[in-house]
Amino acid sequence: MKVISINAGSSSLKFQLFDMNDETVLASGLFERIGIEGSCYTIKYNDKKVKEEVEMKDHSDAVKILLDKLISLNIISSFEEIEAVGHRVVHGRDKYTESVLITDEVIEDIDTFKEFAPIHNPANLLGIKAFKEILPEVPMVAVFDTAFHQTIEEENFLYPVPYKWYTDYQVRKYGFHGTSHKFIAKTIEEKLGRKDLRIINCHLGQGASLAAIKDGKCVDTSMGFTPLTGVVMGTRSGDVDASIIPFIMEKEGKNVHEVIDDLNKKSGFLGISQHSSDSRDIEEGIAAGNRNCALAEEKFIRSVVNYIAQYYVLLGGCDVLTFTAGIGENSINSRLKIVSELASLGMKIDVEANNVRGEFRKISADDSKTEIYIVPTNEELMIARDTKTIVENNR
Ligand code: ADP
Repeated sequence: MKVISINAGSSSLKFQLFDMNDETVLASGLFERIGIEGSCYTIKYNDKKVKEEVEMKDHSDAVKILLDKLISLNIISSFEEIEAVGHRVVHGRDKYTESVLITDEVIEDIDTFKEFAPIHNPANLLGIKAFKEILPEVPMVAVFDTAFHQTIEEENFLYPVPYKWYTDYQVRKYGFHGTSHKFIAKTIEEKLGRKDLRIINCHLGQGASLAAIKDGKCVDTSMGFTPLTGVVMGTRSGDVDASIIPFIMEKEGKNVHEVIDDLNKKSGFLGISQHSSDSRDIEEGIAAGNRNCALAEEKFIRSVVNYIAQYYVLLGGCDVLTFTAGIGENSINSRLKIVSELASLGMKIDVEANNVRGEFRKISADDSKTEIYIVPTNEELMIARDTKTIVENNR
């Protein structure tokens, strides 16, 4: 069975085509600047790469070009080979607790929920509508970033604010990166051959979140109503006191949206370091003696450690600690510093084993009370797996 996994942005469309018989990637690529001058696409297949500038007015144009290219490059021989399309959708609110077959009702809901993800849900819909127009007979599945977190219980997802905000406006913690957290939990379950695990997963990329997972179900996560909260990120602040907002509005003569924008785009690593949002640049800055880079990293490590400690207690211990995403998979230094601060919980890293980037590996010392792993994430594959299962179950 061949499945395409789609991640549509407002002017982009990322795809991976899988042969789900053995989960191999037949092709992958990115369509950029859709609807903007200079639109182009890149397709990678069989160790080859095609890049071309071509006019794309909208996402439908991008999908048409993608499908034609898959045929002209001999990646597939006809459209019929594509048996299903899986779409990443950011927000499914509290209605979607798992991935679903896309129906008119699902499309309407994704549209309705745009007030919770005003940039992402409309963009995700552009991808869905383009495929619906061009491959109307092919079943499609929506895979929500929020779905995995729907097992979180009320005492963990509620904010201590007027209850009416929850009942009337659905203000609560939703959590994000759910597809990645689920993929990591499943991978660990498979590798260790057991499901009764207490896992703390650290998805540390430009955006970062942690999830506390027990018996395969999410118990709590660090992002909230939006992806702004939780740990210190590349440009997002993570948790801050909301009273800072009116204070800065007054000091800098800004409106509320401008201050929220500062918290989303000018904070985190970038805000403290005044140097960069990328942890590689921060590490270089530290090596060059930049104090603010050191502070930014210290603040990041502290925030991750605090969440791990909190989740350790919440789960009543931790069998497996996992690191994933750009920083989690690649930053030897961040993993080392985080685990070093967890010695009082009996966690110990194997410094030699940790000396690796981007591959699945156990990195805990033999006498560590918690097993620690690097697990490369693969959200596209998780989308394709869910899509395959749901389409097969609905035949
Ligand atoms: P997102 O998907 O949230 O945009 P990624 O998971 O791709 O982000 O992570 C990107 C981040 O990973 C970069 O900003 C950088 O900080 C970090 N990163 C990538 N490679 C390395 C590396 N070799 N060492 C340290 N950090 C790295």
